[in-house]
Amino acid sequence: MAEFILTAEGISKKYGAFSALSNVSLKLRSGELRAVIGPNGAGKSTLTNVLGGQILPTTGKVVLDGHTVTGMAPHRLAGMGIGRTFQINSTFRQMTVRENMLVACVAAAGAGYSLRRGKLRALDTRVFELLHEVGLSGISESIVEGISHGDRKRLELGMVLATAPRLLLLDEPTAGMGLSERQDLFRLIVDVVKRRGLTLMFVEHDIDIVFNLAERITVMARGSVLAEGSPDEISADPRVQEIYLGESVVAEGATC
Ligand code: ADP
Ligand code: MG
Repeated sequence: MAEFILTAEGISKKYGAFSALSNVSLKLRSGELRAVIGPNGAGKSTLTNVLGGQILPTTGKVVLDGHTVTGMAPHRLAGMGIGRTFQINSTFRQMTVRENMLVACVAAAGAGYSLRRGKLRALDTRVFELLHEVGLSGISESIVEGISHGDRKRLELGMVLATAPRLLLLDEPTAGMGLSERQDLFRLIVDVVKRRGLTLMFVEHDIDIVFNLAERITVMARGSVLAEGSPDEISADPRVQEIYLGESVVAEGATC
């Protein structure tokens, strides 16, 4: 396995005169859990979208497994192992949990897939394995519209796993969830990532989750990488405390 599954070099993204990203470089080691944090507007989503192929960078290069993939379409990147979750409307709300997973498995099998009886049976097995993996086998016949927000996120994760990704890019997967639901979902994500030997890059606002789970943290501010390091290095970095965590944290530290 290559040391780095993905490298991004000198990525910039301009919207007119405004730079959403300026000269961002990043290396993801195969199998690592990487968090990307930073204040609103720092460029976290833009970077995730550049890596997932949703946004074409103005300058810079993205390399996946030694292949330059800059500007490649998301479905081609998915075919090369990049899984991107939690986009709006990624589930069909009027269909059951099982039917959603079936659609994802058929799509993952490719356009030329022939639905002969033997293959359908294999597909059913696959659907139930994936539902089991994300903890949804008990509600497989429920209509998606009626299931909880957390279960919908589990389903979205399972649907991405149907594409057999090696790198997962998750942009605020727990947005809009309560604390215990957030922790449950992240526990599942980490379990899946570790069991399958995947690489994970996630954007997350909940700082407790970030510092508990991430092996390395990239801190972004105003379109640039401000710092990168282990959770200990990042929490000890005064620039991070000042720019990311805000004055209150620095002030609290000063009074101790
Ligand atoms: P984050 O995810 O860290 O909150 P984003 O990557 O969404 O930040 O946005 C970075 C900056 O780029 C923000 O100032 C945002 O307003 C700007 N931006 C994002 N998308 C566009 C766009 N399509 N056109 C103009 N500006 C954009
Ligand atoms: Mg964002």
